[in-house]
Amino acid sequence: MNTEVEPGAGSPFPEVHVKQEYAEIQKWAREFATREILPVAEKIDRTDEYPLQLQKKMGEYGLLGISVPQEYGGLGLDLMGAVVVGEEIAKASLSASFLMGVQNGLAANVIAKFGTSEQKSKYLPRLAKGESIGAYGLTEPGAGSDAAAISTKATNDGQGYVINGSKMFITQGMVADVVVFFARTGAAEDGAAGITAFVVEKGTPGFRVGQKLEVMGARGTGTAELVFEDCRIPPSNVIGHPGDGFLIAMTILGESRIGAAAAAVGVAEAALEQSMAYVKKRNIFNRPLSKYEAIRFMIADMATRISAARLLTLHAATVQASGGDFMKEAAMAKYFASETAVWVCERAIQIHGGYGVSKMLPLERFLRDAKILDIVEGTSEVQRWILSRELLDR
Ligand SMILES: Cc1cc2nc3c(=O)[nH]c(=O)nc-3n(C[C@H](O)[C@H](O)[C@H](O)COP(=O)(O)OP(=O)(O)OC[C@H]3O[C@@H](n4cnc5c(N)ncnc54)[C@H](O)[C@@H]3O)c2cc1C
Repeated sequence: MNTEVEPGAGSPFPEVHVKQEYAEIQKWAREFATREILPVAEKIDRTDEYPLQLQKKMGEYGLLGISVPQEYGGLGLDLMGAVVVGEEIAKASLSASFLMGVQNGLAANVIAKFGTSEQKSKYLPRLAKGESIGAYGLTEPGAGSDAAAISTKATNDGQGYVINGSKMFITQGMVADVVVFFARTGAAEDGAAGITAFVVEKGTPGFRVGQKLEVMGARGTGTAELVFEDCRIPPSNVIGHPGDGFLIAMTILGESRIGAAAAAVGVAEAALEQSMAYVKKRNIFNRPLSKYEAIRFMIADMATRISAARLLTLHAATVQASGGDFMKEAAMAKYFASETAVWVCERAIQIHGGYGVSKMLPLERFLRDAKILDIVEGTSEVQRWILSRELLDR
């Protein structure tokens, strides 16, 4: 019994309340999600295998290069476009939205915003079309939230850089052809100022995939450890200027947090839509579940919180588009939307009773996926910390 409803079917959110062009982009993304992603979403989660075929199709459709400038083969959409698309894709499968978010929003975005023209020409066209798989390596075994404490070392020996260290929990790490990563070129005491951004390609001697990491949600996204052992890369693999790496990492993460918030909204909407369909057809004590006030109010609360999360997300994207400082808005949207997704998915399971906790329905997957969003790209605590710093210390 898999009663998974199509994205948008019976949705209380049929339209994006922004410009018409975004409504068209939403429709374009929803068509692909319904046709290509929904049918394989459960299998990706169950097998935890990287969905290479889907990745290829996403690349051909343009989803993996939505923000890459058109001159480099992407669609050249702004962040609002990426948000609208990301919500639709996550509604069908958070794992698929991770493929898009990491490729487009993280790896390609670093190169597009900070790379040299040679780096852009070399990497972006293939990333945009999904012919290369990209990853973003910041987190390490000993440094996640405190990214300025990374210890992967890049030693300049006059001819190039020699990299030693490892990266942890890297999405698409198992399969990546191109990895944008961050390493310490200065002393540990330099903190954030001693970090530089680099790019490394699969097959470079001294660079390898370490262990595959199995996680509870966003499964099938090739999460892995990446290892550098005397890996030599030329100076031309530096992205931006030496010492600017932390700034680059945080600038890009600020944008991608808005994307993560949109994904959380998508997951929560999927859980709500499934619940709305279910309560109308499930009879209990001779009445549809939808006639019980306790259930009706749960649905009302779910829809209200999702709308609030969605508005925060769209607002953050609007502030980003205006060129203003959007760190506060991104932090608010990211933690509120991911916590909302967890809350909504938990309610959705309650509404479905035994079916909710069973593997017959996708609801338990939605909850596991939602929890991942509470952790990646800066945990909820880190977002509150950023926010409180912006509010109290500036
Ligand atoms: C599925 C998945 C995919 C990922 N993909 C990537 C990727 O592609 N690239 C990448 O670089 N990283 C990736 N990550 C790593 C992710 O960004 C980190 O896991 C996350 O930032 C948290 O870091 P940590 O795991 O080291 O936890 P820690 O930093 O050790 O945090 C532990 C706890 O301390 C809390 N904490 C931290 N700071 C504060 C504070 N100031 N005040 C109060 N509490 C605090 C945290 O909220 C958390 O509850 C991924 C992780 C997962 C699970």
